[in-house]
Amino acid sequence: MEVKETCSCLLCSGSAELVEQRYPGYQEPLTFDIYYCSNCNTSFSTPRVETSQIYEHIYKNGSKVPAYKRYWQYLNEIKSSKDPLHYLSQKEEMYWAVRHSLLEMNNSKTIKIMEVGCGLGYLTYALVKEGYDVIGIDISKNAVDEAIKSFGNYYICADVFEYVSEHQNLYNVIILTEVIEHLNEPLKFLESIMLMLKKGGRIIITTPNKTVFPKDVSWATELPPIHLWWFTEDSMKFMATKISANVSFIDFSDFYKKKPCLIEVNKFINKFPLLNKDGSVINIPKENGRFRSFLAGIPFFRLLNVKIKSAFSKTYVCQKRGPVMGAIFEKNAM
Ligand SMILES: [Zn+2]
Repeated sequence: MEVKETCSCLLCSGSAELVEQRYPGYQEPLTFDIYYCSNCNTSFSTPRVETSQIYEHIYKNGSKVPAYKRYWQYLNEIKSSKDPLHYLSQKEEMYWAVRHSLLEMNNSKTIKIMEVGCGLGYLTYALVKEGYDVIGIDISKNAVDEAIKSFGNYYICADVFEYVSEHQNLYNVIILTEVIEHLNEPLKFLESIMLMLKKGGRIIITTPNKTVFPKDVSWATELPPIHLWWFTEDSMKFMATKISANVSFIDFSDFYKKKPCLIEVNKFINKFPLLNKDGSVINIPKENGRFRSFLAGIPFFRLLNVKIKSAFSKTYVCQKRGPVMGAIFEKNAM
């Protein structure tokens, strides 16, 4: 009988199974083990290593690193955009999710919002421009300096775990886009975030969505130790129960109606490190040429492309859900 190697799940302490050994890491020569826990339906990587140096490399190479490059484009394009929130929400699920969730709340222009992990600051700024009362917080001094330089004094550099002690019950909404999968202890982090929320307040969370991928795909998100987790809706339900929050999930149908999209499973799986030992960018994936990018911008051609590809290959056509999950955690009003 085959004995499967297991460890205690880093999220729920259940029994997690080793599914990939010596999986390539984000920077050479690091490798990681990938575990999957069927109890909370979550994948995670070990060992956990110091990451500040890798993030510095990404920041320094910012405009060249695949997957991060677009953030620098947004930073520049937002500066001259008349309606930055609308612009962002048409670009990607995560910003659409934020705009959509805020529009669904009543009197949302009078509420207090904090964006945690605001990075280069353009989402916070887009919300400011829209008339919201919002502040961005990030642990990276480089990022906050850049944000202030670009957009003004809407940002603070702080560690949430320290900041929370003096700032409880203050915010109606806390935004966490593509942050939670980077954190060593997401549950402890969400616990702190909950303390900063007012009663009845909400956390808007977006994160890569394992839920829509076939079960046999073990890791189709950024390589560890940049992403440490690959969550499903079950993972979110587990965390919400642990911190006594109600959880609901965002329906992306309206986004995908305008921007047809499919998941080509193989394209999402990356097994090549993106930084070499010295921190230089390597293994840059080939980009679409100008003509293909132009076509991809036209809804009719996007839809056609989705229809053709989904007929001939192993794909998932996005409807209510896609590769980005949107979860709303609500703090009890009692
Ligand atoms: Zn678990």
